[in-house]
Amino acid sequence: MSELAYPYEAPASQALFDRAAAVTPGGVNSPVRAFRAVGGTPRFMVSGSGPYLTDADGREYVDLVCSWGPMILGHAHPEVIAAVQEAVARGTSFGTPAEGEVALAEAMVERVAPLEEVRLVSSGTEATMSAIRLARGFTQRTKVIKFAGCYHGHVDSLLAAAGSGVATFALPDTPGVTGAQASDTIVLPYNDLEAVHAALAAHPGEIACVITEASPGNMGVVPPLPGFNQGLKDACAANGALFVSDEVMTGFRTSRAGWYGVEGVVPDLMTFGKVMGGGFPAAAFGGRADVMAHLAPAGPVYQAGTLSGNPVATAAGLAQLRLLDDAAYEKVDAVSAQIQGLVTEALAKEGVAHTLQTASNMFSVFFTDRPVRNYEDAKAQESFRFTAFFHSLLSHGVYLPPSSFESWFVSTAHDERAVQRIADALPAAARAAAEATA
Ligand code: PLP
Repeated sequence: MSELAYPYEAPASQALFDRAAAVTPGGVNSPVRAFRAVGGTPRFMVSGSGPYLTDADGREYVDLVCSWGPMILGHAHPEVIAAVQEAVARGTSFGTPAEGEVALAEAMVERVAPLEEVRLVSSGTEATMSAIRLARGFTQRTKVIKFAGCYHGHVDSLLAAAGSGVATFALPDTPGVTGAQASDTIVLPYNDLEAVHAALAAHPGEIACVITEASPGNMGVVPPLPGFNQGLKDACAANGALFVSDEVMTGFRTSRAGWYGVEGVVPDLMTFGKVMGGGFPAAAFGGRADVMAHLAPAGPVYQAGTLSGNPVATAAGLAQLRLLDDAAYEKVDAVSAQIQGLVTEALAKEGVAHTLQTASNMFSVFFTDRPVRNYEDAKAQESFRFTAFFHSLLSHGVYLPPSSFESWFVSTAHDERAVQRIADALPAAARAAAEATA
């Protein structure tokens, strides 16, 4: 057993977790934070600065989660903080239109060509839920195609997994979602265009939209095979369905114009969150002006929100987008490539079978030597090796997503010191992964 840089116990986090468990289900406000996939005490963070997080026990970690994507400039970026302070001093919510939301929408439309109009909301879940409603209202059809392993937030109709077989009607994935809600969802294997063509042919005139993560990061990083997204777009166009590209994770992260900027496939509707909120609850959906014209108050499809376009959130998002120029993306891409190289090198040195997959600066490691093209492939990895790898890194001050089915995220703030910390921690983690048993 390698020597741990930190004592492994986290007494202050444990005390907070115990307090939390008394008043909050499972002690957390979003399930993945509870460390259920890897075990152990979730770290309660008290502050973040640049590439680092500091926990309640006073330990500093290099953060490879970046709040699950939003913190692409690192934590507490001075210019984002200044914009927030300036906005907050003018009031926290007006319930009226305000210029900040116009400016944020303009900045988004300017960067992402297919985005002719946007509507701001407060979470990625709200964005995909609203986009699906709009697609149904626009097409006057009911059914939705989604892909196994793609997560679009906790929207009832999208919390459905496939049964066995290629094109099955979905079964609810969770109690509380009714069979009726799930039965209008068809779940298909990711990266399988044949399955999409077959489902469209089996339901002529019934499919309102196909929704996909632009490049999935919620089963680990599983990029679309060449031609997959274009094939979806073409199949939708030929069948009168809308193509909805969920860029909540990839938007303004994988390039200046998100995954659209990488691949150039033009969706009918797109959804956004994470980076565009600068760490605040701001999200959006948008796309073709003729489709968006169906939204209330311009059209009949209802959608609303007390805090939509919140002035503090829009100030944070706008400040972040303004700082995200070409040089910023070059920096994130470069540091991501550097860390990817270090991870592969360390695991290869210990003879650990692994596949590192990327979608520009998003990446993740699968503990298998086979390429991962869909959720079934992802589930076939040796996740027990990830658990050992994760805890070794955590104990050496590197904070990974606490699940092997998540993307890792870096920021412009990940500098040489942070990368060196990762490099120093990796050999022991790779050894732990090699020695792990199921
Ligand atoms: N869509 C994608 C691709 C996501 O990754 C997520 C969250 O991780 C969501 C939607 C839901 O966003 P939120 O957690 O803001 O509701």
